Amino acid sequence: MKKTEKSSRLCLLDLGTEEVKAELADRIASWEEKPYRVKQILRQIYQHGTLDFSLMTDLPARLRERLSAAYEIMPLRESTTVTSIDGTRKTLWHLADGKSVESVEIPMDCGYYTVCLSTQTGCAFGCRFCATGRLGAGRNLSAGEILCQALASLNWWDSLSEDTSDTDRPKSPNLVFMGMGEPFLNYENLRKALQVMNHNDFMQVGSRRITVSTVGLPEQMLRFSRDFPQMKLAVSLHAATESLRKKLMPAARRVPLSRLLEACGECYRITGKRITFEYLLLPGINDRLEDVEALAGITSTLPCKINLIAFNRVDSVPFRSPSEQEVERFRKALQATCNQTVTFRRSHGADIAGACGQLAGKQG
Ligand code: SF4
Repeated sequence: MKKTEKSSRLCLLDLGTEEVKAELADRIASWEEKPYRVKQILRQIYQHGTLDFSLMTDLPARLRERLSAAYEIMPLRESTTVTSIDGTRKTLWHLADGKSVESVEIPMDCGYYTVCLSTQTGCAFGCRFCATGRLGAGRNLSAGEILCQALASLNWWDSLSEDTSDTDRPKSPNLVFMGMGEPFLNYENLRKALQVMNHNDFMQVGSRRITVSTVGLPEQMLRFSRDFPQMKLAVSLHAATESLRKKLMPAARRVPLSRLLEACGECYRITGKRITFEYLLLPGINDRLEDVEALAGITSTLPCKINLIAFNRVDSVPFRSPSEQEVERFRKALQATCNQTVTFRRSHGADIAGACGQLAGKQG
C-alpha cells in the first residue's frame, strides 16, 4: 500500500467558509494580486472540484506556483476505483497517516448522482451487520478529508458528461453521510464540511439534497436539527423492540429505544421535517409479523418515513440477504399496518462491496 506523506502546507479544505475566504484574501493581498482572484480560486476548488492548483488555468502561472507552495487541497490519495455493473463507483482513499476510507458514487436514473461519504476510518458502534463495525473504532476524518470525497466526485461527474455529450446533467450531487463511521461522533468536522457544501460561494448543494444518517445519538441529533433544520436526518432503526435492537446494535445499550423515539419527536418539532427511519431487512431476524406490528406501533404517532433496505452480504457476518419476495411481503404487510410512508431503497454496488453496510476501507 502506498502511504501518503503528511503535508506541512495548510490544508485549505480544513478551513470553514469565512476562514478560507479570510486566509486567501490576506495571502492574495500580500502577493499583490487582484482581490477577484479569491473568487476564482474558490470557484475552481468548490464548484469544479479542481484539486490541483496547476490545473487552474484561468490563474496566472506564477500565482498557481505560489498557491501550490502555500496550500494543500488534496488531503486524500486515491488508491483504487472499482465500478459496479450498475455504474456505481467505489473509491478507496489513503489518508496521510496510512489509514484508509471509502466513498461511493451512485448515478441515479433521474440524471442526478449520489455520493456516499465517510466520516471516520472505522466505527466504535459495532453493529452486527456492518463491515465498518467489524473494524472497531477509527479516527475522525478532518473536514478536508470529508470534503475531498465530495469534491472529487464533481470531476468524475463532469467527465461522464463529456463522454456522453450530456451537458444538461445537474452539476450538484445528493450527498449522503452513510459511509464509514458515525457522523455525529465527529460533529465539529461534519458541521464545518456541511457549511461548505451548502454555502452559495462554495459547493452550492441545496440543504434538501444532504442527508446525515445516525445510529441514534439524541444530543447530536438535536444539535444537528438546530444547526441545519433544512437538511435531512435519517436514523438507523433496524429493530422495533428494545431487546432485538440491543442484539443487533450494541449502541442501543446506551440509548434506550424510548429515548431515541422521544429525540426524534423533538427533532421534528424543531425542523418540521419528517425523520427517515432506515430498516435493514434481515430474514428471520427482524422481518416477522411481530416485527411488522412492533414497527407500526412505535412509529404510529411520529411523523416519519420508513425506508426498507435489503441486507447486503458481508464476509463472516451470519445473516443472509432477503429475496425480492421476502422484501415485498414485509413491505406490503407494513404498508397495510402502519400509517407512515414506507419505501424500499434498492441497493447499488453490492457486487463491488460498495452497498450499505459493506464499506471496510480496503479493496475486496
Ligand atoms: S451501521 Fe453505522 S453505526 Fe453501525 S457499525 Fe456501521 S458505521 Fe457504525
